Amino acid sequence: MQISDIQKAVRQQKASISRRVEEALKKIEQNSHLNAFTQVFADQARERAQQLEEQLSAGKNPGPLTGVIMAIKDNINIAGRRTTCASKILENFVSPFDATVIQRLREAGAIFIGKTNMDEFAMGSSSENSYFGSVKNPLNPDYVAGGSSGGSAVAVAIGACDAALGSETGGSIRQPASFTGLVGIKPTYGRVSRYGLVAYASSLDQIGVFARTVQDTAAILQIIAGHDEKDSTSAEVEVVDYATTINRDFKELKIGLPKQYFADGLDAEIREGILKITNELAKQGANVEEFDLPLTRYAIATYYIIATAEASSNLARYDGVRYGFRAPEVDDLQEMYASTRSKGFGKEVKRRILLGTYVLSAGYYDAYYKKAMQVRRLIKEELNNAFKKYDVIVTPTTPTTAFKLGEKISDPLTMYLMDIYTVTANLAGICAINLPAGKHSNGLPFGLQVMAPAFREERLFQLGATIERMQS
Ligand code: GLN
Repeated sequence: MQISDIQKAVRQQKASISRRVEEALKKIEQNSHLNAFTQVFADQARERAQQLEEQLSAGKNPGPLTGVIMAIKDNINIAGRRTTCASKILENFVSPFDATVIQRLREAGAIFIGKTNMDEFAMGSSSENSYFGSVKNPLNPDYVAGGSSGGSAVAVAIGACDAALGSETGGSIRQPASFTGLVGIKPTYGRVSRYGLVAYASSLDQIGVFARTVQDTAAILQIIAGHDEKDSTSAEVEVVDYATTINRDFKELKIGLPKQYFADGLDAEIREGILKITNELAKQGANVEEFDLPLTRYAIATYYIIATAEASSNLARYDGVRYGFRAPEVDDLQEMYASTRSKGFGKEVKRRILLGTYVLSAGYYDAYYKKAMQVRRLIKEELNNAFKKYDVIVTPTTPTTAFKLGEKISDPLTMYLMDIYTVTANLAGICAINLPAGKHSNGLPFGLQVMAPAFREERLFQLGATIERMQS
């Protein structure tokens, strides 16, 4: 059922919210081998369903998402629940407050079914860097689900929820959406409040949505988007009504295809699949044109310098004093810090803290961090110039389909290259979406990415809805 159908069905009391919750819980149980959830809130979800049903019977309207079941990435705070970030260091940390997105979804009538597994502190592209073990791809459990929001993607793909929240720093929603055949949006930086999202790299992080259709994705973003006085980086830009703009004709749009995103390293079948769609759009009246984005080659290096620099600073707060785990049997304060962090963080997180500390250190700051900030600015300008010519930019989301579990985990550089098409949008602070674009002959899905200028999410939805109609 689409979210709009759920609305009608529960309002007319044609569908029982409790029954839908039971069905979701059953899916979670049947798919427990995929390791998508870190916590399941069975009893609370049942109670909430009953409350909502009572409100409906009393003639009340609990909100536009009444009875919509959602899964939440385990780096977003829900009051009274654990926020583990899939890390030992936060394994038993219980959040005293709701993130703003949670508060808004709750007020809209959504039901939270559980928290989802992820790469530790959102660092990774495969959801294998989890203290709770790897997430597996529902289409083939020998393959990864993508990351870092892999659990949220799987939760939606198996029907354990209607939509899920993930977070993005460099592709963590779009990439797993591509690997599991879903729609996944990274909103513009500042579009959605980050209050209550555990920080990885604050200048890149943004909460976003996974769903099975463009309409559903838009319906959730509608609720969570908008200014929040608790997050000074959230923007005071009006949120347009996505439901009314989504079906607007979009046939004469100008689509840019950056050559660098179709070059060597891209799987031939994915290239063909994406171009088939853009050719079809051209036939329907779109103006499709190739162009150059030469700075693309610096995107990965720039991203991994800035992301690790910010991470090393953000993660300094996990010292065994204020949050979560504290190493036992230590003699003094220094040893307590060292032992807590050595035991509490996983390998990839430590690698990034070291990298980030290095690029920020006095002798290397100018050569790495400062240079990366300058290149980031140029990348942003290059994209903004492209948007003077094109309404949207279309690319593949990932160079390959999902890879095998264990295949890249010991080679961080090839893992980092998985983000080659996605990091640019985070560096530039613009919005981007993954749309399911077809199935590879290996049986796994692949995705098409649309990028639009800052705060123009409605363009992603308009084109997304057009492509969805073309494929059905
Ligand atoms: N794979 C990227 C990284 O490891 C992106 C992660 C993310 O978007 N959270 O940094």
